[in-house]
Amino acid sequence: MSDDETVEEYLFKIVIIGDSAVGKSNLLSRFARNEFNAHSKATIGVEFQTQSVEIDGKEVKAQIWDTAGQERFRAVTSAYYRGAFGALLVYDISRRATFDNVARWLDELNSHSDTTVARMLVGNKCDLENTREVSLDEGKSLAESEGLFFIETSALDSTNVWTAFEIVIREIYNNVS
Ligand code: GDP
Ligand code: MG
Repeated sequence: MSDDETVEEYLFKIVIIGDSAVGKSNLLSRFARNEFNAHSKATIGVEFQTQSVEIDGKEVKAQIWDTAGQERFRAVTSAYYRGAFGALLVYDISRRATFDNVARWLDELNSHSDTTVARMLVGNKCDLENTREVSLDEGKSLAESEGLFFIETSALDSTNVWTAFEIVIREIYNNVS
């Protein structure tokens, strides 16, 4: 390699937030390790996992943080948000209350980060069509009015999980490059 060639490396911190049991830890384990756990307890120990995505021929590494069970409001510390380039705000399409709380999570996110953070609203558990309590359109319009990307996912059957993370990572990449 000649002297004027440099290896570009990208490492982006992304945080996952949202109510307890919406599937945050499983979205992360599905993305980072292609694993799903039907009986996952509150996350303990592991703070983040990494996964690499290729964008425009470059390896972009995402360091994705999970709340470690601190889902009560204001229990998530500012250290958690510090340095984040992106955020996934997750609700459960089969539990209306988790969607009603999105506004509060968004307030919290906004108070801890500037507007350049790539934000995506994620309606998880879209495999639970029979017990759906939040329509696709409701998710879409909320995201539209708040200026968020939007997607419905299933960590259980893998629907859109990779796409959700990829959209956020690509947006961050576009913002910084
Ligand atoms: P967290 O508290 O937000 O981290 O949620 P978890 O990832 O621990 O998931 C909570 C519960 O929901 C667990 O029993 C999971 O197996 C289940 N779960 C997570 N994602 C999905 C999904 O996409 N579909 C279904 N049907 N269940 C899910
Ligand atoms: Mg968890």
